[in-house]
Amino acid sequence: MQGSSNNYKAVVFDFDGTITKRGVHHPTPEMVEVLAKVSQKVPIACCTGRQLESFLRHGLEFFEGVNLENLHLMAENGAIGYFYQNGEFKEFYRSRWPEEFVAREGLMARMNEVIKEFGSVYFEAHRIVVVLRTHLHNFDYEERDPDEVAALSAKIHQLACEELARISVDYEKFLHVGDSGIGVVIGPADGDKDFGVEMFGKFLMRERGMEFSPNFKEILAIGDRPQVGGNDHYFLNGRVGTPFSVGPESEGPFHEEGTRKILVDCFGL
Ligand SMILES: [Mg+2]
Repeated sequence: MQGSSNNYKAVVFDFDGTITKRGVHHPTPEMVEVLAKVSQKVPIACCTGRQLESFLRHGLEFFEGVNLENLHLMAENGAIGYFYQNGEFKEFYRSRWPEEFVAREGLMARMNEVIKEFGSVYFEAHRIVVVLRTHLHNFDYEERDPDEVAALSAKIHQLACEELARISVDYEKFLHVGDSGIGVVIGPADGDKDFGVEMFGKFLMRERGMEFSPNFKEILAIGDRPQVGGNDHYFLNGRVGTPFSVGPESEGPFHEEGTRKILVDCFGL
């Protein structure tokens, strides 16, 4: 793989812990430099639990030198996709919350109560998914221990899954619950990150005339939470794209350092 510019025609990367150092809310200059180079070669997309406004603040603001015409965003853990044109992100798909399974508003209130010892629901930010954050969310990242945040996030994930199982043991047919290590995303089962990669691939076929194999193997997918219950589980399960993990259970290097290595190796930078 080293030095070859291979068959990868596009790249999708997670945000937190994948292009950022663990526990830090924005990418490093070294990471941005690599992304800038890749974006000169192929279309790129960030696939993150964050909503559009959060990506603008913590991501785009830092994307100096990145070719914005090649930048896409699959936000809310893959539930909604945007392309960038004339200085703004425009929506190109949106999945829907399964109201027939459980009303979103009601679930938010219910989850807020269930997890109150460990965190709270992030109201009025996301369009489709429901996000549960830890009580440490508003602390400066220098002042909080990422392990402590991850432990709270894991606890919230467990409680959220238990609560959904009370509605139906088959809840995963309707909703996926993903632990990002800094919070938990509950989103439509058919609008997870794998769906985001698929929509991205179809968008590139439609809008740019690009060609892909049926499972979009030419799209490189990089994330840090592929484990069962992790918010990259469906992203990196191999259904669509070619997955790479930079999580601690992978061979390493981990997190943004691992992502830089993969991109440098895959694109001969
Ligand atoms: Mg992540």
